[in-house]
Parts: sequence; structure tokens; C-alpha cells
Amino acid sequence: MSGVPTPPVAGSAAAAELPALGIDIGGTKVAGGIVAPDGTILDTARRATPGKSVTATEDAIAAVVDELAERHGGPLVGVGVGAAGWFDRTGDTVLFSPHLAWRNQPLRKDLGERLKRPMWVGNDADAAAWAEYRYGAAQGSDMVVMITLGTGIGGGLVMDGRLHRGAHGVAGEWGHMRVVPDGRLCACGNRGCWEQYASGTALGQTGREVARISPAAAADLLDRVGGDIDRITGEVVATAAAAGDPLAVELLGDVGAWLGQGIADLSAVLDPDIVVIGGGVSVLGEMVLAPARERLERALPGRGFRPGPRVAAAELGAQAGLVGAADLVRRAVAEGEA
Ligand SMILES: [Zn+2]
Repeated sequence: MSGVPTPPVAGSAAAAELPALGIDIGGTKVAGGIVAPDGTILDTARRATPGKSVTATEDAIAAVVDELAERHGGPLVGVGVGAAGWFDRTGDTVLFSPHLAWRNQPLRKDLGERLKRPMWVGNDADAAAWAEYRYGAAQGSDMVVMITLGTGIGGGLVMDGRLHRGAHGVAGEWGHMRVVPDGRLCACGNRGCWEQYASGTALGQTGREVARISPAAAADLLDRVGGDIDRITGEVVATAAAAGDPLAVELLGDVGAWLGQGIADLSAVLDPDIVVIGGGVSVLGEMVLAPARERLERALPGRGFRPGPRVAAAELGAQAGLVGAADLVRRAVAEGEA
């Protein structure tokens, strides 16, 4: 079904004016959308992510592409694919993806041959950073740091109108900066990584720690999980905080403070004019961002003698990845790179 004929792209100038297809591969679903050059999503489709098999995942991607292309009918500039994981600098090869079976997989070549369309393939947080720069909170900024707060921390860097991915394609992994010597163990193999203190996972872990030490203080949290401490997740704490539980609000404040501390450290290195906070945890908005700004103000190196970055919530929500991936393939074709 992937042989749906594609009208040829007339040239690079025309490519910039055409809709593109964006795909976001998450742990549980492959979400796709047709995205106009102004960032508007014209249509969407999704499939479950069969994470254990490379072929099945590629089948799901092809099914989403075919469904959207058929309904759209008109010309599409190409397909952009964003997924959690590490891609080499060119985006040709997935080095590692935590939720998927890809290991050193030439994904761009494989998918390009199968879909017979120009491709962009890369990290989902990079795609989200690009989307926020093009259409969201970071429009017009020369130095954008994107932080995606979910179960972990991802990130992207847009500088002078270009996405920067480092010498080997794996820049922007802010979540693995060590903030606590010999701290909590991280899946990356190190201890004390930032995402162990500022993420949904961290929120759940701290909630469980408090519930063990002080069940009285955690009465509301324990109520929500029928007394089973192991079921206290970041989501449970976040829901309790939104309902006004004082302990949960305090724990969320701790995550925000850790977030602000990391932003202060990143500011020492990169001096961004804006730091955009996206990802699942960011839907909590000011409950996390206010304590983050407060800590940033107290921890910014050279505070009082230099401006710091603005800290803003992402504007494109869960669709940022597919919107960014679509625009990145459009840009690659327009520049003759895809
Ligand atoms: Zn780590």
C-alpha cells in the first residue's frame, strides 16, 4: 500500500509552500499528521506502536503515512519522523531508542525506500524544539533551549535559526547532567542525573519516599492508591497537587526548584534568551514554572550583573513533535538535503 503515487515536487521554492507529513513515535502510539507550511494540522491518524519488532513498527509508520496521503490526495513534500532516542548526526541511523527495537538501524534509508518519499528522521525533542521555534513560544529567538519534561528530560537547541545536534547527533540530553554526586541511579548508567530529580518519575519516587517515612503527611496520596505505596506515580502526585493537597504541591515545587537549578546551570553554558518547557509534566504550568523561575533567579551564575533567560511554557502541546518533524522535512527538501 506504500506505493501510492506521489506527484513530483516541482522544485525547492515549491517545496516550502507544500504540506508535509509529520510522524511522532511514542512508547504506545505512532501519531501522524499533515501539516501546512504555517504549522496548521490539516489531518491526523494513529496506530499502536508494536515496540518489540522493527518490521512491525515500520509497518505502523507506513500505515499512518498511507492513510493520511490517501485522504489528502494532493502533493506532499515528504515525511518527517521524530522518535525518542539517539540518531547519528545526519539522521540516517537510529543509534538507540529506549522504547523501540531499533539498534544501529538505517531508518531513513529503509523508510525512504519503502515510502518512496523524501524523509527527515530524528529525535522527538529536537522536532519539538524546532516546532516551538517556528510556530510556538520561541518564535523570533536566536538562542532557544527546549526542555521536555516527561518521565525523563529531553531537549533540543535552536541557534541562529538552525537545529543543532552536536558532532555525533546526540546533543541536548540535558537530563543526564549530573546534579547530585552519587545520587539516584539512572537508566543511562550514571548516578545523580538531573532527570532523576526533575521529571514525572522523580515526582513519583519522592512521593513514595515521603509516604514510607511519613504516612500521615502523605495521607491524601495514600488514599488515592488504596494504601499501596508502590502505586504512587508522578501522575498521582500531579493529580493530588492539582486538587490542592499541600504535600503534593510541595513535591511539585521541589521538582520546579530542581528544574530552575538546571536552567541556571544551562544558562552558564549556553546563555539562551528563552527556555521553553514542554512535555507531559509541563501541563502543570505555573505549579512547576513559578518555583523554577524563583530558583533560577537565586541560582543564575553572575545574577545581578547579567540578564537571564525567559522561562516559558511550550505552546504546541503534544503535537509539537509531529509538527516539527513535518517542517524539518519540508525545510530539508527546500534546501536540497532530503
Ligand atoms: Zn542519566
